[in-house]
Amino acid sequence: MLAIHGGKPARETYISYGQQWIDEEDINTVVHTLNSPYITQGPKIEEFERKVANYVGAKYAVAFTNGTAALHAACFAAGISEGDEVITSPITFAASANCVRYVGGVPVFADIDPKTYNIDPTQIERNITSKTKAIIPVDFTGQPVDLDPILEVARKHNLVVIEDGAHSIGATYKGKRVGTQADMTMFSFHPVKHITTAEGGMIVTDFDEYARRLKLFRSHGITTQNLSKDEGPWYYEMVELGYNYRMTDIQAALGVSQMSRLDEFVRRRREIVSIYNEEFSKFEAVTIPYQLEETNSSWHLYMITIDLDKFTVGRREIFEALRAENIGVHVHYIPVYLHPYYQHLGYNRGLCTIAEEWYEKALTLPIFPKMSDEDINSVIQGVNKVLDYYSK
Ligand SMILES: *Cc1c(COP(=O)(O)O)cnc(C)c1O
Repeated sequence: MLAIHGGKPARETYISYGQQWIDEEDINTVVHTLNSPYITQGPKIEEFERKVANYVGAKYAVAFTNGTAALHAACFAAGISEGDEVITSPITFAASANCVRYVGGVPVFADIDPKTYNIDPTQIERNITSKTKAIIPVDFTGQPVDLDPILEVARKHNLVVIEDGAHSIGATYKGKRVGTQADMTMFSFHPVKHITTAEGGMIVTDFDEYARRLKLFRSHGITTQNLSKDEGPWYYEMVELGYNYRMTDIQAALGVSQMSRLDEFVRRRREIVSIYNEEFSKFEAVTIPYQLEETNSSWHLYMITIDLDKFTVGRREIFEALRAENIGVHVHYIPVYLHPYYQHLGYNRGLCTIAEEWYEKALTLPIFPKMSDEDINSVIQGVNKVLDYYSK
């Protein structure tokens, strides 16, 4: 009997869709920094930045308070301002579009590819106008976006490409790690993401000028370089309206420690995916994630779509039944422009039909490296139980 009808749930305890993995070494590293002279603006920031930059193969890395602040800074560094249009995906976390609004720009949503659920490069080109300044493609679920055609369009129209890699650290596109191909790439270190600093984000780039502007923006727009005059050794100048978006050394220490396990985390995520894929491909009514040959995903999310014609109930009933089984299913994401804020700005339903149709049948299943084999089996059991019950 389904748990929602009073039966015994597939799991005794609730499992969320994503979760951090903090070990003793992480804790010791953080405690060490807490006992050191610098808990912010100290040496751990640079150490963490260097670790990430070296890992992905980028020249620079600039850490921020969170991924959203990092995207805000990237929009500033790219020179996006009042009225500039920036093309992004509707199937993403709202921050990928909100960052454009922070600098006065206009997000333009281009529809997704129905197979990969990533932004469709041909849809990008169709949405380019004389006001387009940048593209923010999103590596949704951890599968890198098909970047080459996007870079080609960007070069042709002189656009900056800011890759939202919040889901994709550790993933590769054509054999190269995410973080070296776009002009700037953002990573997030929220606890559900691959590695965590509790809150945290980063931009990696190969460009000196972007790195300089990112650092300026992170710290009030204050500089001690190229000053207009010299009033004394204390003198500095505020040359841009920046923010205080600095990550603390406490967080960076955690980041340094977590980086040493990133490859292991990604390996385990891939292992879980292969188990899920084998299991869920048995359902005719379920579509497992499609992967481009050029990409090797790092699997932030595992998403299935369900063919609603083949069930006696809707997605909502299936979702609620799975939650009753103590399986922390989710839906990533509500198309961004359908949120009331964007609706009030005048974005209409029907703007990206593929994204809207996809959203109706999408379902996120739990995946994180700390999941035990029993956790994986209980998710599979619960999904089997619920989908079998509601199958026509
Ligand atoms: C998590 C996330 C962000 C924002 O990162 P935060 O660190 O939570 O601010 C941006 N874009 C996507 C796609 C994300 O998943």
